[in-house]
Amino acid sequence: MIIGAMNSPKNSLVEEIQLFGEMGFDFVEVTIEHPSATPEKIMANKKTIMDAFHSYNFGVLTHYPWYFSVAHPYSRIQDAIVQEFAKAFDAASELGAKKATIHTEFLPSGIQDRPIHVAKTIETVKRLSKEASERGLQLLIENFNQGSFSIKEFKTLFSELDIGMTLDIGHASTSEGEGMNNYLAQFKKRISHVHLHDNDRRSDQHLPLGAGKIDMPKAVSELKSFYDGTITLEIHSSDREYLKIGKDKLEILWYGREHHERNKNYQQPKK
Ligand SMILES: [Zn+2]
Repeated sequence: MIIGAMNSPKNSLVEEIQLFGEMGFDFVEVTIEHPSATPEKIMANKKTIMDAFHSYNFGVLTHYPWYFSVAHPYSRIQDAIVQEFAKAFDAASELGAKKATIHTEFLPSGIQDRPIHVAKTIETVKRLSKEASERGLQLLIENFNQGSFSIKEFKTLFSELDIGMTLDIGHASTSEGEGMNNYLAQFKKRISHVHLHDNDRRSDQHLPLGAGKIDMPKAVSELKSFYDGTITLEIHSSDREYLKIGKDKLEILWYGREHHERNKNYQQPKK
């Protein structure tokens, strides 16, 4: 298991990489997103960004704006969004990323009939999967909430398209989510990446681990029973110290406190 952090797109990407590097994270999940991490800005700054990644020996995963529609009712708007995704995939591939996480639709489901919502999602995700694989990226789809796409609808999607999934444990645990266990019961084998954050089990709050009501020891132990891959802490607190605390908490839950303390012996001494 390796632990990553996601840049806030409001901040300089290079400064975010340095912050996560000093905190000892294993990888960065770069959200390629307005305003400071657009594909254009990433391309223009590529050398400095790559130098920062190399200086911390960071792996790179990528993530895309949750507000990019994948089932937009207007086809020309959907086409333009697919083009924006493709531009972001170009930037991701320049950074050496291999995985790309997108979300299901965010527009209220009443805008179009549900079968159309599902069919349009499948059509767009097929297009995006092709665009991604042409750039050496594996497309992963993230659970958002039940209004966005249900477990049943994910099953329909996966019956038509063989792609992986990013399990967002926080999203699955909101009142609109359908619960982590129900996702695990259906999609264990598809889970290629995980997002972890806490909430009050009602709304999507991206709280530090332990600050909400998700039973973290239980969630981590269930995850550990079948998974040993990348986990991004998607904690959105303005005080970034909570990221480092979250990393320690996850390591203690995963390895036990003693092993966690012992691992510190292998960390770079502070300058
Ligand atoms: Zn997420």
